[in-house]
Amino acid sequence: MVLKLYNSLTRKLEVFKPLKKGKVSIYACGPTVYQEAHIGNLRTYIFEDILRRTLEYNGYKVKHVMNITDVGHLTSDEDEGMDKVEVAAKKSGLKANKLTKHYTDLFKRDLKDLNIEFPAKFASATKYIKEQIALIKKLERRGYTYATNDGIYFDTQKFKNYGRLAKIKLGKARVCHSSGKKNIADFALWKLSLPNENRQQEWASPWGRGYPGWHLECSAISTKELGQPFDIHLGGEDHIAIHHNNEIAQSEAATSKPLAKYFVHGAFMIVGKDKMSKSKGNFLTLVDLEKQGFSPTVFRYLAVTSHYRSKLNFSRSAMIGAQNSLYKLQEMFLAKKQKGKILKNYKQKFLFAINDNLNLPSAMKIIWELEGSKSNLADKQATLLDFDKVLGFGFKNYKAPAIPTKIKKLAEERERARTNKDWKKSDKLRGEIEKLGYEVLDTSSGYIIKPLF
Ligand code: AMP
Ligand code: ZN
Repeated sequence: MVLKLYNSLTRKLEVFKPLKKGKVSIYACGPTVYQEAHIGNLRTYIFEDILRRTLEYNGYKVKHVMNITDVGHLTSDEDEGMDKVEVAAKKSGLKANKLTKHYTDLFKRDLKDLNIEFPAKFASATKYIKEQIALIKKLERRGYTYATNDGIYFDTQKFKNYGRLAKIKLGKARVCHSSGKKNIADFALWKLSLPNENRQQEWASPWGRGYPGWHLECSAISTKELGQPFDIHLGGEDHIAIHHNNEIAQSEAATSKPLAKYFVHGAFMIVGKDKMSKSKGNFLTLVDLEKQGFSPTVFRYLAVTSHYRSKLNFSRSAMIGAQNSLYKLQEMFLAKKQKGKILKNYKQKFLFAINDNLNLPSAMKIIWELEGSKSNLADKQATLLDFDKVLGFGFKNYKAPAIPTKIKKLAEERERARTNKDWKKSDKLRGEIEKLGYEVLDTSSGYIIKPLF
């Protein structure tokens, strides 16, 4: 069955065809590790995970590389301001490399908690300085760079197709910018350390001591690890306008080859009308969610069941809805897993939905159809376990939450009352159990205790 993906480069839904038969190379822009990731960031990584799993479900062998930005991302995307890592290191009193390791570890923990498959490689920008310098030299030789007082810049007017991803038209006006850029769209390839900046992370280069510009690492890392072109480039929708255009410009100007065949972007998570972001202060982390009683899997459910190209509005009530729905699916695994068979007609429909540009809302409809069907439990379990290769809710290892002994005893007592046909007593006990936040469900294979949300 063909897989269709929306390619931001062509602004069209396209049939996916890998560069090499049976193999897919993916590059995803990773986090800037100067603070914790918020759940908006994590929505993007969940979408990327679903795409990867969908490719694997279709039988492709995937090589997935993600960079870790541990230097060079400035507080302003206009090549001004301070290096976010240096600022955070100074503020915390930590060494820059300790700080970035700390936040890289937290990021990996978040991915694990969300059951996101790790990329084949996490590539830190500071480990690819040599490659980044070599790339600037190449661009210099081909005439795409110029120097200012504070660094080496990419001359976007020299690159014919600049901005094609976001349909950016370059203005001719020279901008008055303290960096001395010729055009507002030009961007730093190498920034020089300032005399009294006291940077912790800086390197010698043919242009003086300094550090690479933010966009450069992705071009250098993706080429080194995946070659050029590679198949799919991923990121959040904010990368369309600047970051990915700049990556394309650098890589294509240096080699005259395309950077990647497909660019796929995930939409933002919003709160009301605003993008969830650190600067707006409207963000939550996974740890915050757990404090509110929501497991990472509940957040994964919320993210997975929305379409990746639609904005997802975060709210507590949406999380409660996600929790209830997830629990309903997990309930199918409360009873012991039995040997069943994958139901072909459901699998066919599920595959059709996910292969249609990851139409997960549609895939979830099929799952609910399955859940409510008369098929036997063993077959439902087997089918859902198969779909979970894509969804990643972890049904295979699902363990029912521990039920307090007191509740278990009350439920046993109620069961005895029912066996003795003492309906009055059994109703009274059900009421007591509910007051304590649990309910008892009677099924054909015995009773189930579940928490009330
Ligand atoms: P950063 O650590 O800021 O470089 O961002 C990491 C990733 O999160 C990028 O791919 C961004 O596009 C993405 N991102 C940032 N904010 C949001 C949001 N509110 N919703 C979804 N993705 C986001
Ligand atoms: Zn990038």
